[in-house]
Amino acid sequence: MALELKLYDTMTRTVQPLWAEDGEHFRFYCCGPTAHGPAHIGNFRAFLVQDVLRRTLEIVGLKPMHVRNLTDVDDKTIRGSRSEGKNLRGFTRQWIEQFHRDAEALNMLAPHREPRATDHIDQQIGLAGQLIENDLAYVARDGSVYFKVSAYPEYGKLSRLGEREISTQETTSAGRRNEADEYDRESISDFALWKSRKPEDGDNFWDSPWGQGRPGWHLECSAMSRHYLGDGIDLHAGGIDLCFPHHENEIAQCEGATGKRFARHWFHNAHLQVEGQKMSKSLGNLYTLADLTEKGYSPMEVRYALISGHYRQPMNFTLASLQSSRSALKRLEKAIEAHLDGSGMSKEEFKALAAPPFPTEWGLFEEAWRGLANDLNVSRALGGIFTGLARMAKANPGAVAPENDLKALAGIFYALGIELYHSGGETPAIVPEELQCLARERWQAKQDKDWAKADLLRKRLLAGGWQVRDRKDGYDLIPNST
Ligand SMILES: [Zn+2]
Repeated sequence: MALELKLYDTMTRTVQPLWAEDGEHFRFYCCGPTAHGPAHIGNFRAFLVQDVLRRTLEIVGLKPMHVRNLTDVDDKTIRGSRSEGKNLRGFTRQWIEQFHRDAEALNMLAPHREPRATDHIDQQIGLAGQLIENDLAYVARDGSVYFKVSAYPEYGKLSRLGEREISTQETTSAGRRNEADEYDRESISDFALWKSRKPEDGDNFWDSPWGQGRPGWHLECSAMSRHYLGDGIDLHAGGIDLCFPHHENEIAQCEGATGKRFARHWFHNAHLQVEGQKMSKSLGNLYTLADLTEKGYSPMEVRYALISGHYRQPMNFTLASLQSSRSALKRLEKAIEAHLDGSGMSKEEFKALAAPPFPTEWGLFEEAWRGLANDLNVSRALGGIFTGLARMAKANPGAVAPENDLKALAGIFYALGIELYHSGGETPAIVPEELQCLARERWQAKQDKDWAKADLLRKRLLAGGWQVRDRKDGYDLIPNST
């Protein structure tokens, strides 16, 4: 029986089955991080929900082609690089590397392509030029290029905002993205495709047919999505805060240039609050992964907490929810261990079951699968895991658990990206930053096949009290005493 995955589509406001238009790959694009500082848990909620989608697509056999961009030029990155006295590339590189480390720790699968905005300036200039040719954009006196919203009647179809609402939203701080000094715009709703060079841009400008400058932020996603995935894609994802104006602008840019539908499906996750409050710098609740691991929580506990609510519901993230995640993971580990013992299967063998070919029948974990397949309802899936395990214990007290049930269970964990036996203890040990640094260097040495260096670093880590255990796609640091 073929598996089906249904998901809520923001454009039609209905739940729709997903399918690949070209019959080969499910092509989907996610708006990625801006490389100006560490990503916070609000950013990671979106990326983790997308990761669960990607994994579930793999299970239903839709062969995802996943593209997520890196914004490495905008007001924030330029300001950051100039205040640190670094060039833009060097400044953004450190935050891209940090993002990759966090993403790996959170067990996020790397996208198939991860393009940077500054590597695709030509594509962005080409797109802006096409829009000028199609009479949907104009060049202002200072050489900036603007999209003319009034020339594109379909503008606002995703967020379903009327003309008046669009101009009001545009003038609020949430709707605008540092687009001050744009007095050459014909209308307040028009948005920049290309920004002419300003003194505060420093060395960060490129040549274009309209003079020196840099692309407007909205343009990169349209240009790179087209470049890597073609004109019409299967799905576009992002946090709900990006729906307007960013995604609305992406649609206008792509459809205005090509005359073809940009994305067949729009996938948005609701926002995140922390301890019942909006996340903000002033409240000090813009938690990064490092903030939470310093408090003693493991990345897997953070992942569990961030995916466990329904993606369409706003989530209230609390430190207490991390405690609950810890105990839920421990309960799962304990329950599964009992079945593994009964079946003579090791934890590694169980983990290895979470690989293709994925099950098409879910047995005791049918309810868990249905949760995922029906609009990625992770809380229903998690409930289904616990009831499935309870039924398994009842059906096979102390006896062998059927391998197909264990395989189904491992498949659900794969979709959720939950790796067991990774959560923190009661008093978790924290790897000191300098040793984490050595471990990363060692991993890099291994990738470079510099075995002598890798071995030396392994010994230094051991002397510091930590053993390295390599996995296929990474490593774990384990306290030497255990
Ligand atoms: Zn985007």
